[in-house]
Amino acid sequence: MRKIDIFDTTLRDGEQSAGINLNTAEKLEIAKQIERLGVTIIEAGFPASSPGDLEAVSLIAKTVKNSIVTGLARAVKGDIDAVWEAIKHAEQPHVHTFIATSPIHMEYKLKKNPDEVVEQAVAAVKYAKEKFSLVEFSAEDAFRSDKEFLVRICQEVIKAGATTINIPDTVGYASPEEYGALFRYLRENVIGSENIKFSAHCHDDLGMAVANSIAAVQNGADQVECTINGIGERAGNAALEEIGVALHIRKDFYGVETGLNLKEIKRTSQLVSRLTNVVIQPNKAVVGKNAFAHESGIHQDGVLKNPETYEIISPALVGEDEVPLVLGKHSGRAAFRDRAETMGFQLSDEKLNKAFAEFKKLADRKKEVTEEDLTTILTEQQVSIENVPLFELKSVQVQYGTENIPTATASVVTPEGEVKTLAATGSGSVEAIFNTLEQLVNGTVNILDYRVKSVGKGRDALGEAVVNLKYNGFTSTGRDSAQDVLEASAKAYLNAINRQLIQQRVREEQAVMN
Ligand SMILES: [Zn+2]
Repeated sequence: MRKIDIFDTTLRDGEQSAGINLNTAEKLEIAKQIERLGVTIIEAGFPASSPGDLEAVSLIAKTVKNSIVTGLARAVKGDIDAVWEAIKHAEQPHVHTFIATSPIHMEYKLKKNPDEVVEQAVAAVKYAKEKFSLVEFSAEDAFRSDKEFLVRICQEVIKAGATTINIPDTVGYASPEEYGALFRYLRENVIGSENIKFSAHCHDDLGMAVANSIAAVQNGADQVECTINGIGERAGNAALEEIGVALHIRKDFYGVETGLNLKEIKRTSQLVSRLTNVVIQPNKAVVGKNAFAHESGIHQDGVLKNPETYEIISPALVGEDEVPLVLGKHSGRAAFRDRAETMGFQLSDEKLNKAFAEFKKLADRKKEVTEEDLTTILTEQQVSIENVPLFELKSVQVQYGTENIPTATASVVTPEGEVKTLAATGSGSVEAIFNTLEQLVNGTVNILDYRVKSVGKGRDALGEAVVNLKYNGFTSTGRDSAQDVLEASAKAYLNAINRQLIQQRVREEQAVMN
């Protein structure tokens, strides 16, 4: 069967969408999970955009072994050098360089004529080819470019050494028929195209990103660029999980395979949603909460008699099956470490001990500790930052009654190592906690958004809180979980503040470097 390469850009195109800000540890965690999912290429970032991004791409390139790691670069030497700096040690160094080719982008954005654009693209690809064995060239806004011009620039960059050519629908304007026809046209007309891969990259502005990507596959694309949960600029990118499952379920029709380990889809989707704080819509294909729920009586009756009456995807295919109790109250540290390792977590002893303590606390209060709970606990530890002094919640206590004024008392360890305790009131329990913490963190805090949800099912489920706030003029989003939603809320609040302290540290270090 024909193999289609999956190029995941969750950490580049996905990460650059509004409101998403991942730290290095979180990016690494996502990259490792995407590797487990079995994608061919992981686009880990845009190294020239910031020293932090370069560092993250470098760390991912050193860690990930079973997927090719790449970074984005404009068609200029400095950007290509930054990608090289980040991934030179990789087994198959891959760079993704781009320049816009549509009339509107060339005239208004680049202020260059078509000849100058071809010249710059060729120079960039030649320069990249001196260092990288794999060079992908993207003609930005390709779908709105002149077809003859696309043929010309493709031929020139192939001669210069490009191994993959990406034909993105950058603005999400294409229909499946047109986008497919464009790939067929390029396959038939670009001299040398038999030696390279064509790649599709679609945005979902008109809700056609997945359909367009698949149309490209049917017409000669060998690679599809997509993101987990379809996150990305504006309306997002094509959703990886939808493409992967569609090509699998309908392989009778499409006749292609992706090599994805579909069982990892649920877990990957949940991890990306949790770390990016982007909620998955309940009716989202494949990964939505209701994707496998049958509500109508007629449907339920049919599914009970034979699941295939209304179920074209078995939940188990994407790892959605009920996970048995993995660990209990009496499980020891060795069993816990063992379980963490089988789940793919590699934690330092210090972090493992902290995670084990959290697990024990939870097991005392909760009948069944599920795999989902463990993933939450282990992920929180995995992405926590060591060696930067931060605020830490020691305790929180709330007094609430329908006839009382809610009062919260909180103790925190400050970054300076002092323990401070204060109390404040509020119109509700959460507000009382937030008012208390605001005094403890020394600054003005505005809450922009606040959400609480349960992890998994049942009345004793773990609670997860997300707090989006403005602290001394900067915004950040914090997240944490606990058995009690009030504790989770207090921890999420401090997590948001701590993220700013880390950012501040990075800014200070950069200022010293400059
Ligand atoms: Zn894009």
